[in-house]
Amino acid sequence: MLITDEPRPPGYEQVVSFKDDDFYAIIAIHSTRLGPALGGCRIQPYLTPAAAMLDALRLSKAMTYKSSLAGLWFGGGKMVVMADRPTRETMLRVGEAVNYFNGRYITAEDFGTSLADITIASEVTPHVKRVDGSALTALGVLAAIKAAVQFRGEWGDSIDGVPIWVQGLGKVGMALVDTLVRLEHHTNVYVTDLIEERVTQACAAGAHRLNEADRKFAAIYVPCAMGQVVHAGNVHGLTHSIICGAANNQLADASLATTLHANDVLWCPDFLVNAGGVICAAHETADGYDQAGAEAMAEGLGECLRNVLEMAKEGKTTPLDIAEALAEARLV
Ligand code: NAD
Repeated sequence: MLITDEPRPPGYEQVVSFKDDDFYAIIAIHSTRLGPALGGCRIQPYLTPAAAMLDALRLSKAMTYKSSLAGLWFGGGKMVVMADRPTRETMLRVGEAVNYFNGRYITAEDFGTSLADITIASEVTPHVKRVDGSALTALGVLAAIKAAVQFRGEWGDSIDGVPIWVQGLGKVGMALVDTLVRLEHHTNVYVTDLIEERVTQACAAGAHRLNEADRKFAAIYVPCAMGQVVHAGNVHGLTHSIICGAANNQLADASLATTLHANDVLWCPDFLVNAGGVICAAHETADGYDQAGAEAMAEGLGECLRNVLEMAKEGKTTPLDIAEALAEARLV
């Protein structure tokens, strides 16, 4: 396998590409200041190596911030593989590439990879986390939504009755909808997904289908599908009071946080809200999994967000600025 140390942007520790017949991957290590760089292995049919590189860089930095803000002793890294889907051969090469760092990078499942795929990689590397963090991610998102609603203060202290739109009914979105309708008895949950059966399943559980034209009526928008859902083309049309969801990289660029703030839309930093996944991975131990510890920490994301929102209000700045500053403060 051809292994190349790639030029790294300022602030990044190491970026390495791995090339072989039919295999192209990048591992970006943003920081190991707090511990080994933890971050999933994403498999996607990127159109160009440059697109894969951009994803690896953005996602690895977000992993550093997630772990730092959540109070974990892990750094941030990410692996991206340019491929349509994971094959056994691909996952064995993923394992070999992970071994190159001797434990400075730890991989896990991510978009395009499953626990079964990571288990194949673990045949050749011990540096893997084998837990599915989606339930804990949903728990953290719910805690964050509750904190944002309380902070906003428009509906009292409770989320009861506030119209919520969950976009994307995958592992996280479906778990969140299930909790909202079954455990929280929330009657105003609206859903969208590209996969019709998932919408039907959520509606059978008590959610409602949301039509394109009615999206603006959702007071809380919960992106749980893809990234870049806020971009220059739609930012001024987003009239939700709160945007708070699991999707990574929700803003097409960081300046949009300022635009949303100026438009009185409370955007909750994605890398804080969705840290349940990394919290889950961090609580996998040699003997199993510390579920109680992980759940308590994911619930704590609500408190963490509340602090960020209060500090942003006091400092007359955006929640993104505060969340980044707090994450950076642990890295010095
Ligand atoms: P998933 O792949 O299981 O589900 C994504 C869902 O979004 C799918 O049902 C898909 O059909 C739907 N979707 C795609 N495009 C859509 C669109 N335009 N409109 C509506 N629905 C659309 O993913 P997941 O594991 O549930 O994760 C959701 C998001 O949260 C991703 O951005 C992921 O990176 C992020 N995230 C996940 C975790 C985790 O633990 N799974 C942790 C942190 C962040």
